[in-house]
Amino acid sequence: MHGPFEDHLKATLAEIEDAGLTKRERVITTPQSASIGVTDADAPVLNFCANNYLGLADHEAIIAAAHQGLDDYGFGMASVRFICGTQAPHRRLEEQVSAFLGMDDTILFSSCFDANGGVFEALFGPEDAIISDELNHASLIDGIRLCKAQRYRYRNADMADLADQLAAAKDARFTVIVTDGVFSMDGAYAPLREICDLADEHGALVLVDDSHAVGFVGEGGRGTPELFGVMDRVDIITGTLGKALGGASGGYVSAHADIVELLRQRARPYLFSNSVAPVVVAGSALALELIENSADERARLIENTLLFRELMTEAGFDLDPFRVSTGSTTPTGSTGVVRPGDVPPHPITPVMFPGEDGAREAGRIAQHMLEHGVYVIPFSFPVVPRGKARIRVQLSAAHSTDDVRACVAAFVVARDAG
Ligand SMILES: *Cc1c(COP(=O)(O)O)cnc(C)c1O
Repeated sequence: MHGPFEDHLKATLAEIEDAGLTKRERVITTPQSASIGVTDADAPVLNFCANNYLGLADHEAIIAAAHQGLDDYGFGMASVRFICGTQAPHRRLEEQVSAFLGMDDTILFSSCFDANGGVFEALFGPEDAIISDELNHASLIDGIRLCKAQRYRYRNADMADLADQLAAAKDARFTVIVTDGVFSMDGAYAPLREICDLADEHGALVLVDDSHAVGFVGEGGRGTPELFGVMDRVDIITGTLGKALGGASGGYVSAHADIVELLRQRARPYLFSNSVAPVVVAGSALALELIENSADERARLIENTLLFRELMTEAGFDLDPFRVSTGSTTPTGSTGVVRPGDVPPHPITPVMFPGEDGAREAGRIAQHMLEHGVYVIPFSFPVVPRGKARIRVQLSAAHSTDDVRACVAAFVVARDAG
């Protein structure tokens, strides 16, 4: 390798290491599940950091459906959709997602990252305005950057600021408000009803990335628009097949038929990237079918989340990311955000370790918990604001009540060992 470039890479990696930001990947030796094997623990550990909300990642019937898809339709498509990469199951899954979400039509992508990467540039131009929540997922931010529309940003879930930005964008040809349905570091819901009201008032479109909600949020699992009663008021939904819907891979955009048709003609990650593999399509289709009848699992997920919140609060932990003073002007958790208590709490449950020493303490506790058979992940700056370090616990319907209690017990032991 060219010497100076190699020196540069080594220096950059050393900087990341010195800042304590190196991400080390733990190696899992089993299928994804409530209890997993990892190479750095002797016994199985309880997993509280997957997006396996409904426990479908190792579901037997889904694995069988995926096998069938493999047998019937082969391993790979070796083509993009519009050349020779579309099989009947691809279209069927798109129709199934549309019916589930109550939208006209759906277009599949290789990932939700790609869906968000392609949706803006294909639909909006320099005459248009995109107004985006400051805490939106990286893929929305990148997709918006790829598009020539004017960009506006509003403070997290802050409806007064959103109104200001809508006013600032009033000369745009079309305006779209863009938000995550759930903010993944806080487990907070976007205030969709208020957002739709403002959109109506200002003649704007609404796009919701509901990756952390579809399958388990809302009575029928149809996501945050269902939870807030605005299913007929959201214009564009993007989402992933890689979380609650079996957790394999793939993403989608669901919207009005004309929007989807234009994406088929123009969205670059769709036109220039391979079709979703048949095995993934087959498994995901069954996952979605199961989800239509998963009211019990959704109820158990809420019960687990409530039990965890109750026991952790009793044990003296702080679960409210909005109560922690940042000591800075970071405007997270401002006016409009929907907190647990207003609606069923989201299974993303941040356990806060505030202050200067918080990041170190969260890291220490997570490490100690692994030794006690519980796998959780600490997050600190720059993933979350300085002084707001946390361990993000994610509940699953696959957890038993005993698993939840074991997690809380491990938190207590780890804290008291410090
Ligand atoms: C996970 C996630 C994505 C990325 O989804 P992939 O299908 O894994 O690319 C996009 N947006 C949000 C809000 C997410 O939580």
